[in-house]
Amino acid sequence: MTETAHHNQANDPHTHLIGPRVIAIDGPAGAGKSSVSKALASSIDFIRLDTGALYRAIGLGALRASVAPSDGDELSSLLGSLEVRLEGTDIILNGQREIESLRSPEVSRAASDFATLPSVRAKLLELQREIGLSSPCVVDGRDIGTVVFPDAPLKIYLTASADARAERRLAELSGKGVIADFESTRAEIIARDEQDMSREIAPLKRASDAHLVDATELTLDEVVEACERLARAVFNL
Ligand code: C5P
Repeated sequence: MTETAHHNQANDPHTHLIGPRVIAIDGPAGAGKSSVSKALASSIDFIRLDTGALYRAIGLGALRASVAPSDGDELSSLLGSLEVRLEGTDIILNGQREIESLRSPEVSRAASDFATLPSVRAKLLELQREIGLSSPCVVDGRDIGTVVFPDAPLKIYLTASADARAERRLAELSGKGVIADFESTRAEIIARDEQDMSREIAPLKRASDAHLVDATELTLDEVVEACERLARAVFNL
């Protein structure tokens, strides 16, 4: 192996010239991808793309139209007519800004159900690439490092124990005044992860070249610091 091949990629000032200026953050539900991506993007002055919100928009649109994942023709026409776009980080669905409406447990489930379908993933793929390539970007989701930006110079797989993730989700819900119990929140998260990991197309999995960050015992600040260190090294910031 040559000296260059031995080079630690993170210290190579030219690394950022290879591939898009994208940081891919994948991982299971409730691991903290959103909070970490938001804080990381702001500290290194990248934009942020929350791809889960795009899948949630499709789930919300389908629930409102009473279309099920198995409704072949109706689903195709729904997908043809649903207009999903971003204004800054806000999702605009058919001209209407959706924020809290995307966060309910029903929409989480619907997002995961519709995310198993090739037609849904195809509809969102180009949009994600277009946004991710428009500016240096932190992109979080399930298949960012494996499918959407397989050549991202920095990939992070952010995970935590199911208990820690359920605790976080409960705290988040209670911050919004929603009372939920630990067991059902944990069960919902595990069921969604199983579906996301076992689907045929673009399943959630750690890319072979992704850095593993286990947030179980770390504070949000510690996770952000670890990610920021990687980002500054890889992108020479
Ligand atoms: O990240 P979030 O919980 O908002 O994602 C909602 C759902 O959208 C996930 O459970 C997953 O099924 C789907 N998703 C996906 N691919 C992505 C992002 C989200 O399949 N890149």
